[in-house]
Amino acid sequence: MTPFAGAEPLYLDANATETLRPAARAALIAALVLVGNPASVHAEGRAARSLLEKSRAAIARHFGARPQDVVFCSGATEADAMAIHGLGSNRPILIGATEHDAVRAAAPNATTIPVNADGTIDLATLDRLLARQNGALVCLMAANNETGVIHPIAEAASLCAAHGAILHVDAVQAACRLDYDYLALGAASVAISAHKLGGPKGAGALLVAPAHADALAPLIRGGGQERGRRGGTQNLPAIAGFAAALDTAQLGNVARLAALRDAIEAGAREAGAIAVGADAPRLPNTTCLALPGLSAETQVIALDLDGICVSAGSACSSGKVARSHVLDAMGLGALAGCAIRVSLPWNASDTAPARFLAAYRRLAARALRKRDGFSTSPEERAVAEPAII
Ligand code: PLP
Repeated sequence: MTPFAGAEPLYLDANATETLRPAARAALIAALVLVGNPASVHAEGRAARSLLEKSRAAIARHFGARPQDVVFCSGATEADAMAIHGLGSNRPILIGATEHDAVRAAAPNATTIPVNADGTIDLATLDRLLARQNGALVCLMAANNETGVIHPIAEAASLCAAHGAILHVDAVQAACRLDYDYLALGAASVAISAHKLGGPKGAGALLVAPAHADALAPLIRGGGQERGRRGGTQNLPAIAGFAAALDTAQLGNVARLAALRDAIEAGAREAGAIAVGADAPRLPNTTCLALPGLSAETQVIALDLDGICVSAGSACSSGKVARSHVLDAMGLGALAGCAIRVSLPWNASDTAPARFLAAYRRLAARALRKRDGFSTSPEERAVAEPAII
């Protein structure tokens, strides 16, 4: 019996979805009673419109954008696609090798910019690629969802400016965890998702730089919402929750999260793990731990049985664990199939490292026995180990 038996699940998968902030929950529930459509001219419609514009102004203020340049949508998958289709249709497209599938799927024919072994974008190759491509759209994430590795956006923006290219930044994982103004750094557009920063699922935004606002072609046409740039009735409760989440998101919490993450990482390393991307600047809440010899899927299942929620690679809608293109791009080889992502939510408790490590040490001992050729115990065999995929 572990000291944590019977406890609530320990949620360490914030990069899949952050824990909902209480202020976001309250704002969402309050907005549910507004019956009007923000596009309607009558009093109920005007009340909804007023909340929509108040939320837009708060979100714009937080990210250094003009309110009219905040285009609401369903989330970052749509915001990334909106930028790629809306700004990049007549441009060559370059994407980082470790971009999220939201970007990869929206630009299937893009040229890939490789990353260095630490996971950061290879700026010298980006420079060379840009010299060969006229007026390209470069898509680069501010921070990677699997490793937390932070890309040098300011340097990439300067290269883009020098070569007449434009930059789209996927700031999904960086928002409220890093203190950057990507529009001020020269980005043409920035994708944000409410549920990744403690807001509700189902709302996101593309922030567009004033110089590119008129160039953004709509991905979804329809009723002319969002100044004709994104048709469809806005998800007002989720948008109200999005704005409220930003009001309470404090970067001051970041140092506390970094200390918890470092404690997890130190303990995991002692148990035999390799911390992937740890030589690069990283998000404070994220660590990617590879345990040679045990597939990521087995680790996720075993930790889940211990009441600990982590993920392998990026969360994928089918619930299956796919081999990580991010770790492959970093040249991890077979280790890429043995890595899990631990991402602390904003409200992680101080006991999280001890509880995680108690379970992780058991897992590491099992990996060691497996590597040494000893047979596993019956309990261990009860967790089926699938092939690494
Ligand atoms: N971009 C990054 C870096 C992400 O981590 C995610 C989600 O995991 C997305 C885009 C897609 O975001 P959403 O779930 O809002 O569509």
